[in-house]
Amino acid sequence: FFARQRGVPSCAFNSELEDTARRRLQLERELRGAIERRELQVYYQPKVALSDGRVVGMEALLRWFHPELGFVSPVQFIPIAEETGAIVGIGEWVMRQACADTRAWHLAGFDDLVVAVNVSGRQFEATDLTGTVLSALKESGLPASALEVEITETALMRDLERARTVLGSLRDLGVALAIDDFGTGYSSLAYLRDLAIDTLKVDQSFVRDLTDDTDDQAIVRAILVMAQSLGLSTVAEGIETPRHTDFLRQHGCTLGQGYLYAKPMPACDFSAFLNRQRRG
Ligand code: C2E
Ligand code: MG
Ligand code: MG
Ligand code: MG
Repeated sequence: FFARQRGVPSCAFNSELEDTARRRLQLERELRGAIERRELQVYYQPKVALSDGRVVGMEALLRWFHPELGFVSPVQFIPIAEETGAIVGIGEWVMRQACADTRAWHLAGFDDLVVAVNVSGRQFEATDLTGTVLSALKESGLPASALEVEITETALMRDLERARTVLGSLRDLGVALAIDDFGTGYSSLAYLRDLAIDTLKVDQSFVRDLTDDTDDQAIVRAILVMAQSLGLSTVAEGIETPRHTDFLRQHGCTLGQGYLYAKPMPACDFSAFLNRQRRG
């Protein structure tokens, strides 16, 4: 304000901030009603056994295609949806969609597929997540054993007591629980002992430079050894080269996902992908 009054042109930093704020408001506004306008879609990325590339399941990943803004990344709009609370409705929609699609794949003969659905901290804290999961399972006819919920460490740590209760009741239903982006969040490991967790997902930031970076190699090895000792299964994210797979396999990681195998794709493409795999 002062800068402008004195006739000094406002600096690039300020206008960048303004652009960011404007963009944020715009996304916040446009996100309202995005489901009704059918702008949201659930994509699926295959999760494979690293031993032979066999598909064992998939991760549901939300996509937003806006008629004017084009594709908006979940990295941009999920945090906004969390702040405004829109994630609650959107999250329920994703859960129902993912369960229904997976049930259809089961009926088509791929009946051992497990679907992983991302759940944000807000969904965890403020809503009846167990109720949402239960009704999505009932509505679709999908067995609880075919569903896995992914949650980040950071989201868990926001309210550990609540996490304990919710994770416990999801476990009672028979739903599996994975810690997403493992190693990038909270530093205490005590929660691994105290909470009902099945799987650790090795964050893609450790996988990216795995072939050359000895620090990343050490971290990944340590995570895999620890998971094994605790009886947790492991999934590596962001596998892009056969050498990533080799390293991970050698050190005991059994499952993975990444562009080397397939990018996230719409449900119809995933069906085609499954059929191709089955035919060999
Ligand atoms: P995430 O759950 O850790 O998902 C993995 C991300 O890595 C996805 O990004 C996926 O497309 C990307 N990815 C997979 N393979 C590779 C690879 O080989 N290389 C690289 N560079 N990236 C790979 P995406 O789809 O953009 O999603 C970003 C994040 O947005 C997710 O991270 C998750 O935290 C959040 N998100 C996505 N869908 C949902 C949702 O339905 N609900 C909630 N709460 N969050 C979601
Ligand atoms: Mg995830
Ligand atoms: Mg992740
Ligand atoms: Mg991530």
